[in-house]
Amino acid sequence: MAKIQMKTPLVEMDGDEMTRILWQMIKDKLILPYVDLKTEYYDLGLLNRNDTKDQVTIDAANANKKYGVAVKCATITPNKQRMIEYPQLTEMWKSPNGTIRSILDGTVFRTPICIPAIKPVVKNWKEPITIARHAYGDVYKSVDMYTEEPGTCTMTFKGESGEEKTLTVQKVNGPAVWQGAHNKESSIRSFAKACFQYAIDTKQDLWFSTKDTIAKIYDGQFKKVFEEEFEAYKAKFEELGITYFYTLIDDAVARVIRSKGGYIWACKNYDGDVMSDMVSTAFGSLAMMTSVLVSPDGNYEFEAAHGTVTQHYYKHLKGEKTSTNSMATIFAWSGALKKRGELDELPELIAFGEKLEEACFDTLNAGIMTKDLVGLVEPGFEAKAVNSEEFLDAISERLAAKLA
Ligand code: NAP
Ligand code: MG
Repeated sequence: MAKIQMKTPLVEMDGDEMTRILWQMIKDKLILPYVDLKTEYYDLGLLNRNDTKDQVTIDAANANKKYGVAVKCATITPNKQRMIEYPQLTEMWKSPNGTIRSILDGTVFRTPICIPAIKPVVKNWKEPITIARHAYGDVYKSVDMYTEEPGTCTMTFKGESGEEKTLTVQKVNGPAVWQGAHNKESSIRSFAKACFQYAIDTKQDLWFSTKDTIAKIYDGQFKKVFEEEFEAYKAKFEELGITYFYTLIDDAVARVIRSKGGYIWACKNYDGDVMSDMVSTAFGSLAMMTSVLVSPDGNYEFEAAHGTVTQHYYKHLKGEKTSTNSMATIFAWSGALKKRGELDELPELIAFGEKLEEACFDTLNAGIMTKDLVGLVEPGFEAKAVNSEEFLDAISERLAAKLA
C-alpha cells in the first residue's frame, strides 16, 4: 500500500519521560507505516531546552506560527526538585507551554474522550464538555505582597502621556495581603475570537461566564468584548444553528451540572484551570483529556492534557512493564493530522486521522485498556488491563484491518 502523502510539515515538539517513550511508539506503530510523515522536529526534552538555553521552545513556537499546525508531547516544567534531579540544568527554565502560549497568544480547548463503558460521574452528561481556558493574565501574571503594619494601599496607573490614575484599594488596621492583577484588552479580544471560531469549527454552542456583578469593570470588560466580537460571528452562528450565551460563573456551574453536555464553556484563566480539572475528573480520567491551543490567527497546537507521567517512566527505566494510557497523545497526533489534511485539502490524511481514532475506540470498546481506565468501567462491561505497549499493539491491529 502506498503511504499517504503530506504537503506541509507538521511541527513536531518532542518531550520528556514516559510520554517521550510513548511518542516514539505511537509514531512507529501507528503513523509511520501508513503516512509519509513530514515533520519539522523540535526536541523540547528538558536537556535540549537546557542545552539551547530554551531557544528551541521559542523556535518551535515560531515554526508553529509559520506552518499553522503543531503536535506536542508533554514536557517537564522544572521546579526545585527537578534542579536536584538534573544537576546539569543551568536555570529553572520556564514552562514550555507558557512560552508557546504567549508567542501564539492562544486559547486552550480541552475536551474529554468519552466511551460507553465509562459513564461520567454526573449521570445526565451525555456529550463531552469542552473547556476553553483564557491563557493570559489575571492571577497568573499578578503581583502580590504581605504587609504588617496598619496603613493604606493604593493602585496607580501611569500613562505614557503623563496622566495618572490612582485608586485606594483598602485602608487596614493590621497585617494584610494584597494582589495586583491585570489583563490586556487585545488578549481578551483574541480569546473571544478563538472561542467563536472554535464553536464554528466544532459546531457547538458557546457559553461564557465571569463574575461581572462583583468585578464590574474587570469582568465587565470581558463581557463587553465578547459581545462586541460576537457581532462578526453572529450570522455564521445563526446559519449553523448554534448559540452564544453569557451567564455568571456561579449560575454557569449549576447549569453545567444539570446539562447534557455537548458545548464549549469559555472560562477566564483561573476558572478554566480549576474547571478543566473538575470536568476531566468527572468524565473519567486526565489520560482521556485532549487539549488544543488555538491562536486568533488560526494556528493550532495539539497535545495531551496530562503531564509526563513520571512514576511510570521510572518503572520503565527499571525494566518494569507500565500501564500508561496513550489515548490523549494519540488524539493529539490524529487531531494534528486531520487539521493538516483540512488545511492542505488532503482527504486521505483526514480519513487516516479518523480511522486512527476509530481504531482507538474499537480497542477500548473491546474492553482492552490500561489500568487507569479498568477501575472506572461500569458493571456489565468487560475490561482487561494491558500494558502500555500491548495497548498500542491492539490499536495497531485494528488500524491495520481498517486500512487494508
Ligand atoms: P502527570 O504526569 O499528568 O501524572 C499524574 C498522575 O496521573 C500519574 O502519576 C498517573 O497516576 C496519572 N496519569 C497521568 N497521565 C496518565 C496516563 N497517560 N496514563 C496513566 N496514568 C496517567 O502529572 P504530574 O505528575 O503532576 O507531572 C509530571 C511532570 O509533567 C511534571 O514535571 C510536570 O511539569 C509535567 N507536566 C507537563 C504538562 C504538559 O507538558 N502539558 C502538563 C502537566 C504536567 P498513577 O501514578 O497513579 O498511575
Ligand atoms: Mg491546573
